[in-house]
Amino acid sequence: MKHENETSAKGLLRLVIVTGIAALVLAIGGTSWFGAFQSAHIRAIALKQELRMKLVECRARISSIEQQFGEGTLSVDRQSELQSKLRIECARFSELGRSAEMQPESVLGEWLKRRKPLASPVSRESIQLMVVDLDGMIASMNGTIADDKEMLTASLNYYLVFIALLLIVVVLAGGRFIISSYRRSIIPLHKLSERLHQLNCNLPESLHDTAEVAKTLLRGEDPSAEMRSVSESVASMCHEIEEKNRKLDELHIRDEKTSLYNYRHFKEHLIIDVERARRFNGDIALAMIDIDHFKRYNDRYGHVAGDRVLARIAEIIRRECRMTDIPSRFGGDEFAVLFPKTDRATALEISERLRSIICDEPFEYERNQPGEQLTVSIGVASWLDDATDGTSLISNADKALYRAKSSGRNKVLVFTREVVSEESKERE
Ligand code: GH3
Ligand code: MG
Repeated sequence: MKHENETSAKGLLRLVIVTGIAALVLAIGGTSWFGAFQSAHIRAIALKQELRMKLVECRARISSIEQQFGEGTLSVDRQSELQSKLRIECARFSELGRSAEMQPESVLGEWLKRRKPLASPVSRESIQLMVVDLDGMIASMNGTIADDKEMLTASLNYYLVFIALLLIVVVLAGGRFIISSYRRSIIPLHKLSERLHQLNCNLPESLHDTAEVAKTLLRGEDPSAEMRSVSESVASMCHEIEEKNRKLDELHIRDEKTSLYNYRHFKEHLIIDVERARRFNGDIALAMIDIDHFKRYNDRYGHVAGDRVLARIAEIIRRECRMTDIPSRFGGDEFAVLFPKTDRATALEISERLRSIICDEPFEYERNQPGEQLTVSIGVASWLDDATDGTSLISNADKALYRAKSSGRNKVLVFTREVVSEESKERE
């Protein structure tokens, strides 16, 4: 029976694979984007650091010019020399500004727009103002670079958290799959394999137990679809083999024509039951039944009709016997019924009833039999009648049967010493 909400291990595995692929795509995409983001910012920081270095150098040079302006009264030549140096610095500054313009956030670009040092009349005060501005700019540049570095570190942290989250998702999905497989498939499979191993060592005794284990696994806590299917197959296979074994056992102990027990089964029981009677001082009796003038019946009406008679008589014997009796076909037209825990009188009584029922039974074509009836003769023997084992019990019952035949048939005779002596006389 299928459960509607049942998750098969296959379905779960598919989920894990999809989750894994999605996580991999996200990890690759995220890493590429993060790589591009990082290198762009590292490049920007390097550029800012380079600019900062140039600003520091520029400030040092302007500061030295400013110091030279302050050294007392300067000659005209000296003044013009310093002014031309300052112009060069300003030209360099302007160059810096062009590269700084490429970055709109740069404070350098802003500063250049405000100051325009080349256009202003050069004085010591204006140079000092330039130095102060440059200091401010360098400080601001330091701040920007520090912020950028901080941002870079924070983005790295975010990236690591993102990768860790992806890993957690994958581990959770994989873990769920492993735990579920372990609980719903691997543990039951282990139990089943142990049971199958025992079955292999002890067939067919373990069949029933194995089927029970398979059923228990089906009833157990939420087995996987695969496990359910394996357990169902094992349980049904065990039942099938059990059923076939039962049929084989039946074939092994039954007579094909009459469905009574066969001689093999009769003999096994005879040995066991006689031994039990001997050990516990109990009773056991045996009746040998033979159809009267059956050869004649067969010769006239054929063996098919004879077989029908055999089957009918077997049916009557089976019906009249008790559950504990062993009604069997001894061979040919002879039947043997073993009566465990039964005394001679009871066996005689049952045998007499059997004879009478068979005598009254309307068999086909029986009118042509002697006495216009199809009958049986029965010889009964019991453990008390000098029997020492199963074989002598059969032999005694046989002697009684022989006597019943010779004294007119359609009779039940019990084995006694008189029967033996009369039989011996007749044989002589
Ligand atoms: P009696 O009264 O002395 O027993 O005479 P009988 O003719 O029955 O003699 P006997 O018991 O010796 O003959 C057994 C006959 O049973 C011989 C054979 O034709 C018949 N028979 C043996 N086995 C089968 C069988 O399987 N099917 C049929 N139809 N007949 C069988
Ligand atoms: Mg006979």
